[in-house]
Formats: sequence, structure tokens, C-alpha cells
Amino acid sequence: MVDLKGQYEQIKEQVNSSVLDVINSTAFINGPEVHSFQKELEAYLGVKHVIPCANGTDALQIAMMGLGLEPGDEVITADFTFAATVEVIALLRLTPVLVDVEPDSFNIDPEAIKKAITPKTKAIVPVHLFGQAANMDEIMAIAKEHNLYVIEDNAQGIGSTYKFANGTSTKTGSIGHVASTSFFPSKNLGCYGDGGAIFTNDDDLAHTIRGVVNHGMYKRYHHDVVGVNSRLDSIQATILRAKLPNLDNYNNARRAAARNYNQAFQDIKNIITPKVKGNNCGTDKNTICDTCNCHVFHQYTLRITNGNRDQLAQHLNDNGIPCGVYYPIPLHSQKAYLDNRYNEADFPVTNQLVKEVISLPMHTELDDEQIAFITKTVIDFVNQ
Ligand SMILES: *Cc1c(COP(=O)(O)O)cnc(C)c1O
Repeated sequence: MVDLKGQYEQIKEQVNSSVLDVINSTAFINGPEVHSFQKELEAYLGVKHVIPCANGTDALQIAMMGLGLEPGDEVITADFTFAATVEVIALLRLTPVLVDVEPDSFNIDPEAIKKAITPKTKAIVPVHLFGQAANMDEIMAIAKEHNLYVIEDNAQGIGSTYKFANGTSTKTGSIGHVASTSFFPSKNLGCYGDGGAIFTNDDDLAHTIRGVVNHGMYKRYHHDVVGVNSRLDSIQATILRAKLPNLDNYNNARRAAARNYNQAFQDIKNIITPKVKGNNCGTDKNTICDTCNCHVFHQYTLRITNGNRDQLAQHLNDNGIPCGVYYPIPLHSQKAYLDNRYNEADFPVTNQLVKEVISLPMHTELDDEQIAFITKTVIDFVNQ
């Protein structure tokens, strides 16, 4: 699905020498590389505070702890996403409230959010799924009206831009009250182990979170709040510093691959290509342009509408083509998250998507020949 080796070859000398420098410095934890990476990511995102941590799941949990959410508070998130989002809500004894998504963008449906709001609702967690921003105009408006926090799960969206209806643009992860991301190796900005970060423009929240990630300490050995231990290490930070200047190029390469895929699959029966919603970006819907940067294609995900998705996955595997089904089971149907409040009729889109979606190889090193082989194999099978 991803070619981490090919990407490493491009930055090998820089990565190798900076990793060796960290080892020689022995500043493995909280060293200068972590601080420099933090500053560089703040500048790239245009966000006031980046707080590095150990992984993207911790980042979500710490964001919720920093906001002071309490047991029983309801947190609304998407039914169609990776389990980390709902997991941390449940772990903190908050109440997850899963809602349906939009069929075109796969992102949380603002109308479904509105219906799910109760007096106990405290926060909304939009996930910028597969690299495309959720409808942040609507989500921020809903949050404002009901006095809710917005926590952006930007693990799949780093580097993408959101254009508001009023014409202003901003990077995803700098829109809500707080955001989380992951530097898991296969993410658009991945390290060579685990890593994550929290972003916010709120000075007080940033201060609180800096204590939460460090055992609740604001002064050494004074534990003011219950915290966690969650750190990005210096070796990962130095690798991320080597990769961050390339992030826009990496995302351009992903978009180029997506354009090639789309071209091959256009007008093929039983295949729906991923929709670029182009939230207010002014380009034609479904144009994958590099200027508006509104989709960074963490995944390239088709819908197979003839009921043969699983057979296609098997066929691709038989032909040596990796593929993935993200995600095969709605979160509301997962044993750990069953809840009487859910009604199947409230999840028509997710229930359909889990049967239809298939993600094809997507990374920065895909060449035309590979894409031609993959698309031919898919089309021959679907059309047979
Ligand atoms: C990867 C991912 C996470 C979790 O990140 P980890 O670093 O693996 O903990 C959370 N949310 C989404 C949407 C993700 O894709």
C-alpha cells in the first residue's frame, strides 16, 4: 500500500546523518530536535502551538483531557472512521455519539450532527477522512450555536487546506479549538516509529496540554492535574524535520497518482471514484488541482457498486496488488461500542460504504506503469 523505502532513498543522506547526530548528542528525550520540529510545524501549519506527543491516539486523548471534558459528556464523531477516535472518548468515560457520514466525501454529515445534539453534548470530533477536510464551515457554525468544542482529527489530513465560504483559507488542524495528528509511518507525514502532535491557537489550552503530556506537571515534581506520559522522541523528530520541507511535494505526488487513477476509472461501470468536494475552493467539482490543495489523498478509495468488492480485493491480492478495506465494519456495530441509542436507520451511508469501499496503493513513489497495471487489473475484473 505504501513504499516507505523508495521515499527514504530520496532523503537517505540527510536522515542518516541527522539520526547519527542525535545518537551522538544523547539528547534522546525533549532534545533540541523536538523543539525545532515543533517550531517548524507551527510555522508550516500557521498554528500558534504544536505540542508533540507519542502517537495520534494519545493526541486525541490529551486534547480531550486538556479541554476538561468529564465523564458523561457526550462527544459526537463519525461512524465511518478508524476506531482510535471513538476509543479515546470511551476510555475517558465520555459518551461517544456516532453519526452518519456523507456519501460523496465520506466525512461526518453536518445534518446528522445537528440531530444528535443533546444538552449533554460537549464536543464534536470531525475526522478529515482519507485526506479531505470535513465541512468545517457548517461544523464550526453548529459548534458556535450550541457552545461546543471542535477537535479536528487531522491524522489523515496533514498538509491539506480548507477554504471557507468567506474566501479565507487555512490548513486543516488550525480550524477547531484543538486538533490532533499522527506521524505513524504510513501517514502523509510519517516518522520511522510512532509519533503524534496536538495543535491549538489557544494559549491557555496549550499551557494545560503541555502539563497533561508530562504527568500533569507544570513545575518539576508538582502534579497539578492527572496527566499522562506521552513524548515524541528526538530521533523521530529529526526524521520529521527532514521530511516536513517535502510534505507539499509528497502531497502533490499523491494527487498526481489520484488524477491518474481517476482518469483510468472515469466512466467505468460499477466504479465510483473518490469525490473531491472542493469545499468553496472555486475549482470545478472533482478537479484534483494542486493549487487549492483541498485533498491530500491519504487514501485513494473507490466504491464498487456491483456487490463484488470482496472478490475484487481477493483478485488484486492474487495479482500481487495490495489493497485495503477502510473500514469494513461501522463503529456503531463494533462490540466495544454497541449502544441502545443507535438505530440502524440512522446510518444508511456508513452501512452502505462498508460494503463498497476499497483503497488502492497510494504513496509518493507510484509511477505510471504501476498505476496502469493496477487500474487494468481492477477494470478487467469489474467489467468481466
Ligand atoms: C492513524 C489514525 C489515528 C491514530 O494514530 P496513531 O498514531 O496510530 O495512534 C487516529 N485517527 C485517525 C483518523 C487515524 O487515521
